[in-house]
Amino acid sequence: MIAPEPAPEPTIVSVTPPRRAALPIVVDSPHSGTRYPADFDAALQGLALRQAEDTWVHELYASAPEHGATLIAAEFPRAYIDPNRSLHDIDEELLSQPWPGVVSPSRKTELGAGLVWRLMAGQPLYRRSLSVEEVQRRIDTCWRPYHAALQDALDAAAQWPQRWHLNVHSMPDNSRSRLGLPDAPLADVVLGDLDGTTADETTVALIEDSLRHSGYSVARNDPFKGVEIIRASGQPARGWHALQIEVRRPLYMDEQLQKHAGFDRLQRALDEMLQALALHVRSRLAG
Ligand SMILES: [Zn+2]
Repeated sequence: MIAPEPAPEPTIVSVTPPRRAALPIVVDSPHSGTRYPADFDAALQGLALRQAEDTWVHELYASAPEHGATLIAAEFPRAYIDPNRSLHDIDEELLSQPWPGVVSPSRKTELGAGLVWRLMAGQPLYRRSLSVEEVQRRIDTCWRPYHAALQDALDAAAQWPQRWHLNVHSMPDNSRSRLGLPDAPLADVVLGDLDGTTADETTVALIEDSLRHSGYSVARNDPFKGVEIIRASGQPARGWHALQIEVRRPLYMDEQLQKHAGFDRLQRALDEMLQALALHVRSRLAG
């Protein structure tokens, strides 16, 4: 008797390799996943739950492989587990038992948005506690495969003398109040390089100039500086450049998370930025 074929595993991470001569550029979109797992069992539903998503961001950068880059995107939603957080960023208030590993909550965890979120815009995300086993399963089925795919791409890029990593996101207009910061204007695009430490000035200035030239306002590290994911991958002294890029959500979608006319314009601007970056990378590698 022939054993039945196992059901195909759902895609956890999509990896799009370069469509032309490969360059050491990796673009990763950790928060644009929209496939909600059946065992999520959250108290919030629909748009209230989906506001954690950086919806469509992987599509904004869809041309990256045409410029020689590898594009990585999470398929699972950030509200389920956040690949942009460290494994130690545990919120024990959410758990029914003590965590068996290292617990080192960040400021984001105090705001309810650690590795597994407890709060969504101030509201409890669950009507229950989560078991340790449940959180560990999310780590094993989502967080680890995402980081393995990203690390593979970064390792492949590290075979060149230098490499570039863009960690890409989108931000709501109320980002400052969500971060507990005083009200102030939010730029269209925020480039985060952990206060000038994760990429060389030439790379940051090139991206900034390209987006300004397309008509967008650009700020650096205000209010988003970037997190661990670029601290590890961005070591300019070794020729490793990493940046977090946040774009304002209202530039490309409405409050129902539907794309509007601004989507194409922003996608074109990001395409031009990627083209400028690829040109810079080629000249660096040639020189
Ligand atoms: Zn994000």
